[in-house]
Order: sequence, then structure tokens, then C-alpha cells
Amino acid sequence: MGLYPLPNGIVENTFRTANFYSSRGTKFSLHLNRPVTAALNRARFDQYLAEQAVAAGASFALNSRVQSLVISDGFVKGVNIQRGDGTQEQVSSMITVDAEGVSSRLLKQARLTALKPQGLVYAVEAEVENVRGIEDDAVEVYLSSAYTSGFYGWLIPRLDGTAKLGLGTNRGSPRDSLQTLMTKHPVACRQLANAKITKIGYHAISLGGPVEKAYANGFLAVGDCASQVKPTTGGGVIFGLTCAKIAAEAASQAILQGDVSSSALRVYQRRCSELLSFDFSVMLRLRRFLNSLSDDKVDEMLRVLGRLGVDKALSSQDEVDFQGKMMLRAVGNPSMMAALAYFAMLYLSANA
Ligand SMILES: Cc1cc2nc3c(=O)[nH]c(=O)nc-3n(C[C@H](O)[C@H](O)[C@H](O)COP(=O)(O)OP(=O)(O)OC[C@H]3O[C@@H](n4cnc5c(N)ncnc54)[C@H](O)[C@@H]3O)c2cc1C
Repeated sequence: MGLYPLPNGIVENTFRTANFYSSRGTKFSLHLNRPVTAALNRARFDQYLAEQAVAAGASFALNSRVQSLVISDGFVKGVNIQRGDGTQEQVSSMITVDAEGVSSRLLKQARLTALKPQGLVYAVEAEVENVRGIEDDAVEVYLSSAYTSGFYGWLIPRLDGTAKLGLGTNRGSPRDSLQTLMTKHPVACRQLANAKITKIGYHAISLGGPVEKAYANGFLAVGDCASQVKPTTGGGVIFGLTCAKIAAEAASQAILQGDVSSSALRVYQRRCSELLSFDFSVMLRLRRFLNSLSDDKVDEMLRVLGRLGVDKALSSQDEVDFQGKMMLRAVGNPSMMAALAYFAMLYLSANA
């Protein structure tokens, strides 16, 4: 994203290993040659981006809420804001960029299709202390249809001994599922036997792939509200920021040309699509494939991936966000070919 190096205090840890566990505790480890992912202090990261925006001329109305869009003659022409002190204000703009997150309430007001509930998983993330038996540079990933249905559980260590523990599920209560993960998963229950939760939060994640239309007259939608989120991992920071940059370019071009109609802003969706549609389509298929597997099949898959040496085939990858292109790069390797043939067989047997 051109943001590195970030100021001190934002990057909490970096990782080059991911350990995947089936519900029976079978482990498949992926070791990359160098760290390719980082855990960020999200509050400080957002604050840093906000400071960059202010330095570039942006201003913020903190402690304020957009109540509704101002719509006239079929164009979005600004927003109605309620300030923290209860006062109301109307702000006019040639283009309104909606970055409201997964609620997608304003998207509906712009007459665009909101996020579909069936594409959502419900996540919980906790801060924990006293985790044991984990490596500093490895993320732990737990797979179980019983309590991480449609997604997975994660444990992400920080260097100060604390960790982020979470999961997403499309069934039941995320809080109860987290409790089950901590007490019933054969590996997690050992790692978290003495763990203490110090903070907990809940949020939905949209895994359905980008919305069909993220633009209207005088209006652009970016980030989670446009579902610019990886359907495999639920990561939305890289794709959201990538699309936000394209949105900024499309908006400034439209304003300079004096045409903010939906036909002028269509270029935003086209450019996002050109850049991301291949990766999204691969990741959507991967998500559907993973969701179709029983716990026994997941267990078998992790064993087979280990036996085929997929770990070594992927070890030189230095970028894991664009997963469609990543698979293309790895596909020439015989282990990956064998793994793909095996996936195809699993897919056919799961969907027969
Ligand atoms: C538990 C969990 C873990 C995650 N982990 C990762 C990860 O490791 N890596 C990764 O890439 N992604 C991760 N994600 C996803 C990532 O957090 C989101 O994709 C990203 O935050 C989306 O950014 P956004 O700006 O679109 O939306 P948000 O971050 O949701 O921000 C939307 C903002 O708009 C504000 N808002 C909403 N409505 C209004 C209104 N009417 N008026 C004014 N303000 C409003 C909200 O208060 C909020 O501040 C995770 C998500 C969850 C839930």
C-alpha cells in the first residue's frame, strides 16, 4: 500500500508461519521464508491514516453520525449529520464516499443493494493473557464446523505475551462458540487452559464478495460496506484500502470533469474489478469449497497437504493477499499440481 515503514507502536508482531488444526487436532504448518503478514494495533493504525489525511487537507467531524443522505434530482448531494452535542447539520458535497462498514445502511438509501445476510459470518475477538505453547511468529488457525461453521478460529500472538483470540461462525452465538473452542478443541484447549480474557468485541464480516454496484449519482461505496473483503480470511484492510485509492482517483477525476453521474463514476467499479475480480472469484470458490467439507474431510485434507509437501511449494511466496494470483504462481510446482488434483477430487466428492 506504500505505507511502510509505519511509525513505532503500530506493528505489534510479524509472522511467517501459520499452523492449521483440524477439529481432531491434526496439524498442517505453512512456513514462509520471510514474514509476510503483520499484526497491527488497529486503533493506532487508523489514527496514523487519519493524520496523513489531515496533512493532505482532510478534516474530521468526530463524535458525529451521518443520519441520512441528502438526495435531490436523483443525485446524492451530501449528508445530514447529528453532532455529539445533539445539533444537526447538513454538509453538501459533489461526491459522497460511504465507508460506513458492514451495516450498509446508507448504501440502501443510495438505492444500491445492501449486503446479503447469507454472506455474513458473526465474529468475536478477545484480548487474552497467559497463552502457552505457541510460537511468537506463528498464527494458529482452528477449523471445526461445530463452532467455526463457515469460517475459522484464530490465535494471534503479540510479542508482549498477550494475544488476539477470535472466531467467526454462521451458526449460533459467537461467544458460546468461543467458549467451546477454548474448552473443547484438542489443541486450543491446551494452549488456552489458563488464558484470561481481558477485553472482547463482536462484529460481522462479509464474505460474499464485492457488491455488484458500488456507485450511484454522486456516490461511491468503499471498504466493508461494498464487501471488499477476502472471502477466505475475512481480511478487508488491504482490499478496502486498494479500492479506496481507486475511489479517490475516480472521484477527483469526475469532479475535475464536472460530471459526477453514475456513468462517470462507473470507472471506479471497472478498475476495482480489473484489479481484484480474478482473486475474488478464486477466493469465493475456495470459501465455498471449504464450507462444503465435513470435519473428517478437513482432517484428511490437512494430512494430505502435509504429505504432498505443499508447505515447501508455498514457502517462497512473499505476498498472501491476492490469493488467486498466488495460486497461479505456485501452480507450476508438482506438489501444488498434486494438491490441486486432490482438491478437485474432494470438491467433487463433497458436492456429488
Ligand atoms: C474480529 C475481526 C478481525 C478482523 N481481522 C482482520 C485482519 O486481521 N486483517 C484484515 O485485513 N481485516 C480484518 N478484519 C476486517 C477489517 O476489520 C475490515 O475489513 C475493515 O475494518 C473495514 O474497514 P471499513 O473502513 O470499511 O469499515 P469499518 O472499519 O467497520 O469502519 C466503519 C466506520 O464507520 C463508522 N460509521 C458507521 N456508520 C456511520 C454513520 N452513520 N455515521 C458516521 N460514522 C459511521 C463506524 O463507527 C466505523 O468507525 C477483521 C474483522 C473482524 C470483525
